Amino acid sequence: MKSVAGIRHLDHPYRTLTDGSVMHELSIATHLVAVATEALENAGETQPVTVVRIRVGALAGVVIEALEFAWDIATDCTRCAGARLEVERVPAAVRCAACHTETTVDGPLPFICAQCGQPAIDIVAGRELDLIALEVHDGPGPSAEECHATAHP
Ligand SMILES: [Zn+2]
Repeated sequence: MKSVAGIRHLDHPYRTLTDGSVMHELSIATHLVAVATEALENAGETQPVTVVRIRVGALAGVVIEALEFAWDIATDCTRCAGARLEVERVPAAVRCAACHTETTVDGPLPFICAQCGQPAIDIVAGRELDLIALEVHDGPGPSAEECHATAHP
């Protein structure tokens, strides 16, 4: 195994949705595959991927269980087919406008400053949706041509 990509930010296609009601984990998974594939091509890497590691913030609007479910569908017959999706969860953190204290939050709105009790709306962490690293096979792996035979018995 070797690591290919460094930290690489993913463009979240639904970043502007604020109501949290629209979940497009399959689209996110498909986008992840596209970004990973591009990173492999940029690195000149031809081996199949074994691990895709991502970082997801608590406020990113991503249901991780749904993303993991969508992953198998999105990766079918791609360079990431059979790869394991590893998710690093990032808790949300806010900074108080009144006293500038940063508070890690683990619950629903409103976010309250731990220092002075004022509502804290300046979000400093928790919106991450990043592709952190890829790991690829060292030796020969399954080829893309075999995927239809093995993925749909
Ligand atoms: Zn405060």
